[in-house]
Amino acid sequence: MKTRHRRSPTERSDSQAEPTTLLRLVCVVCGGIVGCFAIVLATWSNQSAPLQIVHAADPVSGAAAMPTDPTQPDLTQSPTQPPTDPAVAANPALAGRVADEDLPKTNAEWRKRLSPEQFEVARKKGTERAFTGKYWDTTTPGIYRCICCGEPLFKSNEKFESGCGWPSFSSPIDGVKGTTVAEHEDVSHFMRRTEVTCRRCGAHLGHVFNDGPPPTGLRYCINSASIVLDKK
Ligand SMILES: [Zn+2]
Repeated sequence: MKTRHRRSPTERSDSQAEPTTLLRLVCVVCGGIVGCFAIVLATWSNQSAPLQIVHAADPVSGAAAMPTDPTQPDLTQSPTQPPTDPAVAANPALAGRVADEDLPKTNAEWRKRLSPEQFEVARKKGTERAFTGKYWDTTTPGIYRCICCGEPLFKSNEKFESGCGWPSFSSPIDGVKGTTVAEHEDVSHFMRRTEVTCRRCGAHLGHVFNDGPPPTGLRYCINSASIVLDKK
């Protein structure tokens, strides 16, 4: 008895094993692979094969589209370049706000990022000598950020000449009752003062006194070593 073999839907006979036909449409602008506007590969292995787009590029930038195979490296993304400025490479807070996960956890780590004076002032509650800091008489417009974590802390338009020899501000950047700086009672050196720190990373900034100009009447007396100016 002659039996008839029934093919499964995925099984092919020899007569159907036709060679795959490829049709490649190459961009008429550049004709190449890199920077090409669009290359479309159509595959006809049988009549129902769909048109498959295997490569397309951004028509604006010319960058190649991401590969569809997740196991392949994404060659369209340039590798992250390390900072070229050695100072920024050592302390990323000089370039902007540092991500939480990139903030040091120990004094040993802080010491690697900061200059000896910055470490002594910002992490050990030291005080730079009057009239010696980088910003005591600076009038350049901009934003003063924390030297440790890069958080914006003070604005140049709230800086005033107090004659004390340290950068003086009438208010933190988000106001006297804001959240950028924290205040602590300080009874060191036989004095009762109010210490000001960066609320985010705990860096010692200076002290706040009640002899400032209106409208706050406050003087935030800040060490230059604890801040960095982002010029406008
Ligand atoms: Zn900070």
